[in-house]
Amino acid sequence: MHEMAIAEGILDIALDYARKNEAKRIIKAALLVGEMAGVESESLAFCWSALVKGTIAEGASLAVTRVPLRGRCVACGRERLVARYNFICPDCGGTLEIISGRELRVDYLEME
Ligand SMILES: [Zn+2]
Repeated sequence: MHEMAIAEGILDIALDYARKNEAKRIIKAALLVGEMAGVESESLAFCWSALVKGTIAEGASLAVTRVPLRGRCVACGRERLVARYNFICPDCGGTLEIISGRELRVDYLEME
């Protein structure tokens, strides 16, 4: 499952970070997930809670911040939100290039 692999990746980063900082417990992992990253929050939360059992991240919450899909027109240079995956610039008919909305990364971690 896609979400399981993502949850494993997050936990790896968190455990590694905890080790380097001699943290005893991971409290929270915050993620930035683009609208187009193809991640299902509920499924990810489920995988996360299963995965952290027995680790220092057990009980840690997973906060997901969705990043909206934004594009920049290659013709007129305007930036705008992309609605309904319509990548045509409403001003000039040019093509919108994605500038955000595909990211999937750890934003910050809380530990003690
Ligand atoms: Zn345009």
